[in-house]
Amino acid sequence: MLSNFYKKKLDELISVSKRTLGSEKVNDNLISNAFKFALEAHKNVNRASGEPYFLHPYEVAMIMAKEIPIDDVSIASALLHDVLEDSEFTIKDIKAEFGDEIAEIVEGASQIEGIFENYEVKVVDSFKKLLLSMASDLRIILVKFADRLHNLRTIEQLPPQRQTRIAQDTLEIFAPFAHRFGLSNIKAEMEDLSFKCLNRSVYDEIAMQLREKKKERDKFLKNFIEPINEALKKENYKFEITSRVKHIYSIYRKMMRINKPIDEIYDLFAVRVILDTPNKYDCFSAYGIISQIYLPVPERFKDYISLPKQNGYQSIHTTVVSKEGKLVEVQIRTREMHEFAEKGIAAHWKYKENIRISDKKLDEWMKWIRETIENVGKEDVSSSQLFETFKLNLYQDEIYCFTPKGELKILPYGATPLDFAFEIHTEIGMRCIGAKVNGKIVSLDTPLKSGSQVEIITSKNQTPKKDWEKIVVTQKAKSDLRKYFNTERRKIISKGRDIFEKKLKKKKININEDELTRMVQKYRYKDLSNFYYSVGLDEIRADEMIGIILNKRKSVSVDNVPEVLPEVEFLPAELKQERLIKEIRESVGSITIGDSYDSNIIQGLKYDFAKCCNPIPGDEVVGYITRSEGLRIHRRNCNNIINLYLMDPNRIIDVNWNMNIHDTFAGGIIIIGEDRKGIVNEITEMISKNFGVNIKSININTKGSLFEGTIILEVKDLKQLNSIIEKISHHKSIIRASRFG
Ligand code: MN
Repeated sequence: MLSNFYKKKLDELISVSKRTLGSEKVNDNLISNAFKFALEAHKNVNRASGEPYFLHPYEVAMIMAKEIPIDDVSIASALLHDVLEDSEFTIKDIKAEFGDEIAEIVEGASQIEGIFENYEVKVVDSFKKLLLSMASDLRIILVKFADRLHNLRTIEQLPPQRQTRIAQDTLEIFAPFAHRFGLSNIKAEMEDLSFKCLNRSVYDEIAMQLREKKKERDKFLKNFIEPINEALKKENYKFEITSRVKHIYSIYRKMMRINKPIDEIYDLFAVRVILDTPNKYDCFSAYGIISQIYLPVPERFKDYISLPKQNGYQSIHTTVVSKEGKLVEVQIRTREMHEFAEKGIAAHWKYKENIRISDKKLDEWMKWIRETIENVGKEDVSSSQLFETFKLNLYQDEIYCFTPKGELKILPYGATPLDFAFEIHTEIGMRCIGAKVNGKIVSLDTPLKSGSQVEIITSKNQTPKKDWEKIVVTQKAKSDLRKYFNTERRKIISKGRDIFEKKLKKKKININEDELTRMVQKYRYKDLSNFYYSVGLDEIRADEMIGIILNKRKSVSVDNVPEVLPEVEFLPAELKQERLIKEIRESVGSITIGDSYDSNIIQGLKYDFAKCCNPIPGDEVVGYITRSEGLRIHRRNCNNIINLYLMDPNRIIDVNWNMNIHDTFAGGIIIIGEDRKGIVNEITEMISKNFGVNIKSININTKGSLFEGTIILEVKDLKQLNSIIEKISHHKSIIRASRFG
């Protein structure tokens, strides 16, 4: 099925993978399937150079196999890493074909790519954490390293502007990351390629100088190494001596730092003595031998064998003086130490870098990874245990989200769009009616994910809702809301006080605060402010209290009359009803609606339904005795009834439904949805077509791309209302449909 060209490519990838990972650890089928899948996915796309796009993921997989050899899963994921962006295939297809693990890596890599495409790196530190918090698996980041490296290797194909951008992001984010992950070769290559792109003339200058001096340097090194070579041979060591020039970008940085030309940088290169011995003490004897040949500089001696670096790096570093008087750094280590340092993952990621305290967590995690990798191959650690360690949970207690303008906001885990709104500005939070996450409308209590773009939709008519306090998690949102509700309460209290005082004046009643306090407490208010608060909500409270004061004064004006219940004729109308209720409560205990022939009178009481909560048969309900309008039926969980109950439980009575009641009731629904033409018609049509109920009223407010509406329907009972809500909430443009009140 594959052409010869691709067959050869596939064979090459599999054989490189087997070489670096060990053949028993490579699943040929997995790599071959991923190869074919990616080839198919990208078949119609070419790169800027004109060659098939597939060759890019192929090369990325090759980098994984050769330079970051971890496992076959990461190689397969590398082959698939661009499938989601550039083809018809979706994450579902990848999941079906390759399972959850690969799907997670591919999806993660795509999401990170999206971040770099859509946002400018402004705050480097936050960006690094953002990437880490988005990567649930170490291999996501490693695939991105390989991807980035291949993009840099072929960067000349891109338009200049994109080149600059990629090179900058690499220097600021990817190269330091690769360094921390121990991928020193990859880091060096990334830096050189980016530097070359950003500062071509300086790059060429340094490269030229290195080239010009190459002969001289080679000659010098040959002379320097020769005596060491001889002496170690004489002592029967098995060893290898290598030397390597530093990479161009690090030379450049050194030149900048010490402000000297390239000739005066003495540690342009390091000589490495790698001993083929299992015995680490051989390194010390080799050091002794070398010190006999060249004079060491004692203060530059470092023993990372007895005291390994935190990342596990082991080696002896010594600086010696050559015959010509030049300083040369010599590193002495065993083959095992060398492999470990070169392999990546745990090489010298901390070397010469300033680690800040906040990075401690990453350090600890890296140590853990290193230990696990070290133990692979030993009997007791299976490779599946190693895979477990690829699971990252770095910075997972923080969430990094973007505003539509690309500004990065950091929120705690569990934060919702509402928190995000308050994070932008208190006013935005207060007026928030909806949010879009990555272009899709979500409900305000949806937990946010790192890397998402969040757009807050506001309405100037919106005010904070009491249940918001349960939705938000940030301190800022919580205290903003608390402040708001406290202020609201104070406003209502002071309004209540004004009303009450005006009424006292009108009736020419003088009462001091102490007496009033005693009065209201007797009338089951906690204190004066609670009383004023209830007056602020309902003026009738003031009249009630004045009635009671007048009564009281009348009854105490007669000397020595024992305190008895006031005469009925002096009672406010509602207290008469209260007596009636008392009688009912004592005889039958509760009232049943629907038992009476007269639909507005029940057991001698006039009743109606509260408009705040629109109770319907099936709801748990209670009755509240109003001052002059009889019994008012509320839903048991109605906010108003809860307040009323707290103020005076005696005026509340249990109410049941006779479910055989044949009548219709006003049931309210609140809907929030995406505003588009015809949506209201679609909803009303859907209701009348499917349920045959009348729509009493409909009220729609639009703002931005959202609308919020209230629909009042004539329904039979709760069951019917719930099935209507259920139906509406499945409509594709509706974000939320819920019971009104
Ligand atoms: Mn790519």
